[in-house]
Amino acid sequence: MDASLTLHFKEKFLTMREQLLLGIEQAKLTGEEVTLSAKDDLKDDVDWTIQGAEEALSYKLAGRSTFLLKKIDESLFKISRGSFGICDDCGQDMAISRLMARPMARLCLECKELEERSEIHIPYDRRSHTLGNTTSQVIAS
Ligand SMILES: [Zn+2]
Repeated sequence: MDASLTLHFKEKFLTMREQLLLGIEQAKLTGEEVTLSAKDDLKDDVDWTIQGAEEALSYKLAGRSTFLLKKIDESLFKISRGSFGICDDCGQDMAISRLMARPMARLCLECKELEERSEIHIPYDRRSHTLGNTTSQVIAS
């Protein structure tokens, strides 16, 4: 991958990272505002319930954001190592169109399709095997 394209992705990831961190900060601020207004109007036990729900929500949000941050950091690390855009499985360069659509993709389209097909095929093969047995039994009798 040429240097200008690598830079394009690096900037993209850094912007995503910044927006993600900003989003987490904003969610924290909004959460604090709601908690404060609830304390003014509601009884202690109701307030506690709202706080509990908010905590659950922020854990959920943190989990998803952490996952995304990890993916972004992985991609940035690959850029720094010079292995960005290379398929983790077969080691081939990924198509630029794939990286444009999914910048954090780990596998090339071929490997991704193989992975998805093998996941789908296990129950399908089992079913057709059973069907084959039934057919031969019918023929035998
Ligand atoms: Zn591959």
